[in-house]
Amino acid sequence: MAQIVCASCGREVTVRPQSPKQNYCSAPECQRERRRRWNRAKLDADPDYRANQLAAQRAWHARNPGYWQTYRC
Ligand SMILES: [Zn+2]
Repeated sequence: MAQIVCASCGREVTVRPQSPKQNYCSAPECQRERRRRWNRAKLDADPDYRANQLAAQRAWHARNPGYWQTYRC
């Protein structure tokens, strides 16, 4: 089985034969990072996806008015 260096945390991990193109380890924070980078690239590359995300966020806001007024960190 092949070893890879995780593109997020830099740990050396053994990849599963089912996913030989794997670039990240299975740690939740690395999966989150992988998703974040994928989403970033997708937003840059795909105008339809961007428009869709914007529409979905606007629709959500229409359903949840005042959410950010009551939001606390
Ligand atoms: Zn990792």
